[in-house]
Amino acid sequence: MYPAFPIHYIEPVFRPPSEARSLILPVTNGCSWNACTFCEMYTAPQKKFQVRPQADIEADLMRTAQSGLPVRRVFLADGDAMALSVRRLSAVLEAVHRYLPQVERISAYCLPRNVAHKSVADLRALAEAGLRMVYVGCESGDDEVLRLVNKGETHASSAASLLKLGEAGITRSVMLLNGLGGTRLSRRHALESARLMNASQPEYLSTLVVSFPLGSARFQAAYPDFELPDTVGLLQEMALLMEHLQLENTVFRSDHASNYLVLKGRLGRDKAALLAQIRAAIRAPAAAGLRPEWMRGL
Ligand code: SF4
Repeated sequence: MYPAFPIHYIEPVFRPPSEARSLILPVTNGCSWNACTFCEMYTAPQKKFQVRPQADIEADLMRTAQSGLPVRRVFLADGDAMALSVRRLSAVLEAVHRYLPQVERISAYCLPRNVAHKSVADLRALAEAGLRMVYVGCESGDDEVLRLVNKGETHASSAASLLKLGEAGITRSVMLLNGLGGTRLSRRHALESARLMNASQPEYLSTLVVSFPLGSARFQAAYPDFELPDTVGLLQEMALLMEHLQLENTVFRSDHASNYLVLKGRLGRDKAALLAQIRAAIRAPAAAGLRPEWMRGL
């Protein structure tokens, strides 16, 4: 019989696909903002935002150490661990290394506002304490799109935070949402998102397709004339984004289950090849091996 898993989670728990092999360590429950109209991740009553006491986090770490699990990477959950103060985050990072000295990488989701009041020196101290990577859901670089989806961020606030994180030496993995501007704002969504990425030069960039597994009523109440582009419209938006991306050394992925077309490459090196792949799919969607609707894991 297997021993009980050392951490008791309040479900549902989310993590980026690339953290599949990491220990998911909850330091908060839910997301402190929890107001983006496209996001249902933490809307269940049990996911109300709360910071966990340090003693509970350490108890989880102690049980993990005793279990002998081979932990090399730790992902600080839930949606908003970086909402903690530098003092609290430093204590968590220190505890991870104290209980699990073999850990090589600690990462977390990060809202741009989480670092607005943290200095580059603060962030550098967190990096030195083991925080290697953050996942920043920018979703769009366009102020009107961000306003309509109630992201609570702007192009400027997103750019400032990404630059600050970069300067501190924390690897940035940015997510953009294909289709988020609807048909009406598709063009400016793509262009402004490209401008945001060009200014911030993240180390990783991924795109997901906006989707509403629990229905779109909440989203459409805030953006009533929203119309999701069809598959070709989504690909045209991707082509426009790609055309305008001027990235020097960014790993690019659109391999999340929500995407119709799987793209992987390094930008700028693979820009022409990725663009050719998108344009071919626009010209002949049936021949492009698009992910069928039933395989999109939403
Ligand atoms: S900030 Fe992130 S986790 Fe929080 S509501 Fe928005 S998308 Fe969801």
